[in-house]
Amino acid sequence: MSDKIVRGRFAPSPSGRMHLGNVYAAVMSYVAAKSVGGEWIVRIEDLDRQRCKSEFCDMLLEDLEWLGLHSDGEIVYQSQRDEIYENALRQLEAKNLTYSCFCTRADIMAASAPHESDGAVVYGGKCRHLTMAERAALGTVRKPSTRLIVPDEIVVFRDMNYGEQRCNLLTDCGDFIIRRGDGNFAYQLAVSVDDAMQGITQIVRGRDLLSSTHQQIYLRRLLGYEVPDFLHLPLLVAADGRRLAKRDMTADMSHLRERFSPEELIGKVMHICHQTECAEPMSACDAAKLFDVGKIGVADCKIFS
Ligand code: GLU
Repeated sequence: MSDKIVRGRFAPSPSGRMHLGNVYAAVMSYVAAKSVGGEWIVRIEDLDRQRCKSEFCDMLLEDLEWLGLHSDGEIVYQSQRDEIYENALRQLEAKNLTYSCFCTRADIMAASAPHESDGAVVYGGKCRHLTMAERAALGTVRKPSTRLIVPDEIVVFRDMNYGEQRCNLLTDCGDFIIRRGDGNFAYQLAVSVDDAMQGITQIVRGRDLLSSTHQQIYLRRLLGYEVPDFLHLPLLVAADGRRLAKRDMTADMSHLRERFSPEELIGKVMHICHQTECAEPMSACDAAKLFDVGKIGVADCKIFS
């Protein structure tokens, strides 16, 4: 155990109005950090210029204020940090660990069997072996993405909720994209760089990102950053067991704000995450006093109706 202050974060992508899944990640990351007297910051992950809109971002920040979740530091916008990611990319290029990939999504799907139930595919490394001439010819057709070469190596970490996680980078994950063909830096690179540069020591987020953690740990090692603690939360599912999607209107923040006060919503989130016996309304500060990581569990959390 280190005696460094815990610093957590909430890192939403403003591609739509905040929904219950975001509220859950925001509240749980906040209470986890605050339960040990830590800090909590907000980072806007708006790298995808097509999908992320400033009006969604404004609403998101207003929704967080409404919930009483205040960032302990200035809000950082990934869209303003290209130079920083560029610098990290150059470090990886200098180690000869990157290559241009011209494969389309369709090429990749055709060449590999889906690896996990979520449809994630392991890239077989086709473009790793292109000759200079092949690369030049393909470059006239489309703009390449940049992939990171991964070794045949197992990454192991202990998640605070899901326990030990192991992944062979080569066979379970494959060389992964760190800059997309459209020029935008990829989530894996940006998140690893930002969490490290912002001094984040505790990452609390949904289980959908559990499998990304191995890539992020590998990237952090290459860039010389320490590895933080990870706590992944069970997925939120609708009462009938379906995974909660953004299109579920009842989970949309405008709808939630009409029906609940901030304290009621926080109380509900604490309850669906098994922190309390019943959904008592409470402030975020009071919720932090009750937080118990041991109570979260690994089963999907059913939302209220
Ligand atoms: N920006 C990501 C999302 O909204 C979350 C990133 C993270 O928590 O690592 O899904």
